[in-house]
Amino acid sequence: MKIQQNFSLKNHNTFGVDVSARFFAEVTSSGELLEAINHSKTQSLPMLFLGGGSNILFTQNFDGVVIQLDLKGVSEEIINENEVLVTSKAGENWHEFVQYSLGKNYGGLENLSLIPGNVGTSPMQNIGAYGTEIKDTFVSCKVLNLGTLEVEEFNHEKCRFGYRESIFKREGKGKYVILEVTFKLTRKDHFIKTEYGAIQSELKKSGIENPTIQDVSKAVINIRQSKLPDPKLIGNAGSFFKNPSVPMVQFLEVQKRYPEIPNYPNGDLVKIPAGWLIEQCGWKGKQIGNVASHQLQALVIVNATGNATGKEIYDFSTKIIDSVKEKFGIELEREVNIV
Ligand SMILES: Cc1cc2nc3c(=O)[nH]c(=O)nc-3n(C[C@H](O)[C@H](O)[C@H](O)COP(=O)(O)OP(=O)(O)OC[C@H]3O[C@@H](n4cnc5c(N)ncnc54)[C@H](O)[C@@H]3O)c2cc1C
Repeated sequence: MKIQQNFSLKNHNTFGVDVSARFFAEVTSSGELLEAINHSKTQSLPMLFLGGGSNILFTQNFDGVVIQLDLKGVSEEIINENEVLVTSKAGENWHEFVQYSLGKNYGGLENLSLIPGNVGTSPMQNIGAYGTEIKDTFVSCKVLNLGTLEVEEFNHEKCRFGYRESIFKREGKGKYVILEVTFKLTRKDHFIKTEYGAIQSELKKSGIENPTIQDVSKAVINIRQSKLPDPKLIGNAGSFFKNPSVPMVQFLEVQKRYPEIPNYPNGDLVKIPAGWLIEQCGWKGKQIGNVASHQLQALVIVNATGNATGKEIYDFSTKIIDSVKEKFGIELEREVNIV
């Protein structure tokens, strides 16, 4: 395995931020992974595991070892005539994995088409879109415990999934590397979910009345391509903030002042779209220096000129948080991992 020094991470994060890693190792096997971990441990250097770099903001150079997980392979085990377990190694590209399962007519992941990043990162924030989250099909994942260097299996319960949350973002942060993930998918009786977002109107445009899982995937791809900026063209990490959930009392207070506020029940809480809050504060399409809020989706912060530093993007996000707090009394939380 080659360990490179003073390595530019510009092409390894979708914000396109130009920072460097003191060491960079691309690992393609568990042996190489252990070698890279040992290299970090013997030199007492911090480690950072990287997938597709689509949910990370580097605010400074990384003075340690960045380990790019390039573990590949997909396998499957038929359970019965309607269910199959599909296991993918961490380094497989998420969208390609979704397309692979659709190619085999396995259902359950179609609404998650075109989400950037790798399979190994999908449990980190329980990726979700169009009414589906990976927790709906997730069975288990194998992880390497960085303390003991033992491989452990985490089932659904142990992952403690929540909205853009899991144990790996909270108390397990920095303690485990996800090596592979297993999903239970349908083979015949697919559960078609079209009620979320613009899926139904997109299907209608194509004259589809009884959609297949492949049709749903295509509709999701079309909607995402029309709404979200392509990181290959303009640096971004998708939604920068989570949609906040607030207690009913607080929501009613805000609703008195803004009767048109969109809202969704979320247990005892009320979920409010962060994009709407940000737009109301006048941020949609606004640019400061090299950074902007995207003109079609206020929730997405973009590296508008291609020359933004991570610090500039971070400071821009702080300004958004402050103005939403001031206007609505609601504290936005960043979804993107800050390094
Ligand atoms: C245009 C765009 C649209 C997006 N849309 C969505 C969406 O609809 N829904 C959604 O949920 N997300 C969305 N995202 C965010 C992102 O795609 C997901 O969070 C994705 O899972 C990140 O994967 P990655 O491999 O790129 O993660 P990275 O950015 O490489 O890593 C993210 C974090 O996980 C850690 N990490 C990476 N791999 C591992 C591992 N194997 N084990 C342990 N830790 C690890 C990293 O250190 C980092 O802290 C979008 C991003 C973009 C750019």
